[in-house]
Amino acid sequence: MVVLPVPEALCRECRLCCRFTDRDILTPWAVRPGGGDPLPALFRPPAPLALHPGTGRMDLPVLVCDALRPESGRCGFWGEHPADCRLYPLLLVHRDGGFLLALDPDCPFALRESPAFFVAFAERFRETEWLRLTPAEADRIRPLARGEDRPHYRAVLPLPEPGLSRSA
Ligand code: SF4
Ligand code: SF4
Repeated sequence: MVVLPVPEALCRECRLCCRFTDRDILTPWAVRPGGGDPLPALFRPPAPLALHPGTGRMDLPVLVCDALRPESGRCGFWGEHPADCRLYPLLLVHRDGGFLLALDPDCPFALRESPAFFVAFAERFRETEWLRLTPAEADRIRPLARGEDRPHYRAVLPLPEPGLSRSA
């Protein structure tokens, strides 16, 4: 499984990920309403995932993923965590009728690497994981990918429909 190599030290400083203010958006697909089984295996963690209340700042409520280990600040499913977590700050979105990988410029790592770095990683994901999905699995994640998109996400790599030949 491919994991985008965001430096651990950077995430420890930033601490934005794995904490959420809204259960319905920007959370792992595995915990969103309608996001449970039968998600494709690559989007499912090895055990059920849940959100629990955490400590917020500035009176904002915060939900924390229960796979986040408080002592280490690391993901308890690391290496097997859901594809939408493994790809971030790339996001799988559905825009203008097709899937694509886009980059979230709000992640500090998105500004540290060149566009070519993210294109190369996106191509690796396309070849090793995306093209293994079945058309039915793609249909399952399509509405989640539609809901994932935000206008400021930068397109990185269009993805073909799984199950269709690339010349189609
Ligand atoms: S937003 Fe980026 S740098 Fe911050 S915790 Fe998430 S992946 Fe790490
Ligand atoms: S599964 Fe792991 S990487 Fe994904 S939100 Fe939970 S703790 Fe973070």
